[in-house]
Amino acid sequence: MTKTKISVIVPCYNEEDSLPLFYKEITKVAKNMHDFDFEFLFINDGSKDQTLDQLRALHQEDKRVRYISFSRNFGKEAAIYAGLENASGDYITTVDADLQDPPALLKEMVPILESGEYDCVATKSTNRKGYSFLRKIFTKCFYKIIGIISDTEMVSGARDFRLMTRQMVTAILSMKEYNRYSKGLFSFVGFDTKWIEFEIEERVAGTTKWNFWKLFSYALEGIVAFSTTPLVVAALIGVIFCFISFVLIIVIIIKTLVWGDPVAGWPSMACIMFFVGGTQLFCTGIIGEYLSKTYLETKKRPIYIVKETEKTKKTK
Ligand code: UDP
Ligand code: MG
Repeated sequence: MTKTKISVIVPCYNEEDSLPLFYKEITKVAKNMHDFDFEFLFINDGSKDQTLDQLRALHQEDKRVRYISFSRNFGKEAAIYAGLENASGDYITTVDADLQDPPALLKEMVPILESGEYDCVATKSTNRKGYSFLRKIFTKCFYKIIGIISDTEMVSGARDFRLMTRQMVTAILSMKEYNRYSKGLFSFVGFDTKWIEFEIEERVAGTTKWNFWKLFSYALEGIVAFSTTPLVVAALIGVIFCFISFVLIIVIIIKTLVWGDPVAGWPSMACIMFFVGGTQLFCTGIIGEYLSKTYLETKKRPIYIVKETEKTKKTK
């Protein structure tokens, strides 16, 4: 009987320090789960350090190691997509290279899928260890907002570490959108997901690849991709303003008829102009955000571009 194969997808961007530690850990896990075949599919997301060289060497040593190297940095979402598209396993898992999510948890996750009751085992952290204070607040606000304005459920504290059946992966791959927000996509496809909780660790080595602006635009991506409520809010603001101006016009007409028209109120007029102008720009900005995403989608650019894989590597 052939063994069930588990594909482990690992996005890597400048992970030369974490990679050896990660490899050591994941092989240990694989050894403990000898009823299963493993494939380790590393995605080198345009790293500028020795990550690719390390992956080449690992493949030489261990044929379970496969890699796909991008032509430049395409972002973690693109790396996950490439992994899902190229994984050959029956069960597929995505896990970060920095060991913040312990691969040892797979031993607990796999039997849950094996039972046939669930299609996916997802993880969420009970803490946000290793993240800055600002990021913690920002993340909390994001999940509050998206919880209110989106029909797609986003679980606060959800990690990208999850194990899925091939059927679920096929469903995810059927969504070819360019602006990918995985947490939303995973939720959107449905299927039965079992959530397990654990405490995340600090990164084993290296530093986080996210800065504030990267995270901010990622959050915007999530909102734009999974909610059209901001557009409704923009329209609503317009309606409210029209109503206010209508009331004000009547008030001014009556005031002028009763008390005459002394010229006054220029400072307040300037304030109102700024306020209304600002609101208009804000609403146009919201529309622009959706338009720009639509524009990018219509171009149908590839989500990632491969430069090298373990199969195409030229031997010098
Ligand atoms: N990563 C990636 N491309 C990027 C940024 C990150 O492939 O542009 C990978 C990174 O190598 C790591 C994972 O995504 O394996 C999570 O990154 P990180 O630990 O920096 O994120 P954080 O834990 O701070 O959210
Ligand atoms: Mg991390």
